[in-house]
Amino acid sequence: MPELPEVETIRRDLAPELEGRRITAVRIHHDDIIIDALPGAEFRRRLEGRHILAVDRRAKWLLLRLDLGILVTQLRMTGRFAVGRGAVPPLAGFRHVAAEFDLDDGRTLFYDDVRRLGGFLLLSEPEWALEESRFGPEPLDSGFRAADLGQALRRGRAPVKNALMDQSRVAGVGNIYASEALHRARIDPTRPVSDLTDEEVRRLHRSLRRILRSSLDSSGTTFRDYRAVNGRSGSFQTLLEVYGRDGEPCTNCGQVILRIVQAGRSTYYCPGCQR
Ligand SMILES: [Zn+2]
Repeated sequence: MPELPEVETIRRDLAPELEGRRITAVRIHHDDIIIDALPGAEFRRRLEGRHILAVDRRAKWLLLRLDLGILVTQLRMTGRFAVGRGAVPPLAGFRHVAAEFDLDDGRTLFYDDVRRLGGFLLLSEPEWALEESRFGPEPLDSGFRAADLGQALRRGRAPVKNALMDQSRVAGVGNIYASEALHRARIDPTRPVSDLTDEEVRRLHRSLRRILRSSLDSSGTTFRDYRAVNGRSGSFQTLLEVYGRDGEPCTNCGQVILRIVQAGRSTYYCPGCQR
């Protein structure tokens, strides 16, 4: 699933294409991508004619701020966007187009989703404010200090890997960057958050921000399904140190990287240098 760097990459790709444009027509090919179960006709009626004021992101959600309401996109596993001209999407790989949004400059925004686990929510400002209040702080915000991470994480006794992925504690971090940040901070992912020292929280804060920024510089991680806009791949997968590398030697200490399962998700870590 795309995490903060991937959704932010998509946001940066889409913003110059969409900001200031008006949505002239909407075609929904599969109603199940409308997450709030608004009937397709009603969803279309509310969107057609709207201006796109800004393309934003919060956590792993992409937001189109409209002159009336906010269109929230959750990309989940296989959601992708392309922008192009004409009735067919600009990419041969787009074989499962679920929605099309015509723009006032003659181009179309295509949303493709093979598995259709992702989709859209059309919210009013108050509805969005309620959703938004459930997220923890953004880890790349300039005001996000080590003390803020400590405060967000050190509640209860959850394993630190699970706590990092909890969107109500810190927004936008998922399986890949939780594993990578803990490896770079040399912290065992199974450690209870209540046991982390101030020094460990500072290390984790530094490595988390570094890794998210570095991935953003590489347009994200294309491990399986993720693509930026118009099929562009990320390249951070070549810089991963533990994620998906079980059985390989640790780049730091040479011990074999292990895969364990935490809360139903794979965690990759080095038992040699993560304590
Ligand atoms: Zn190691």
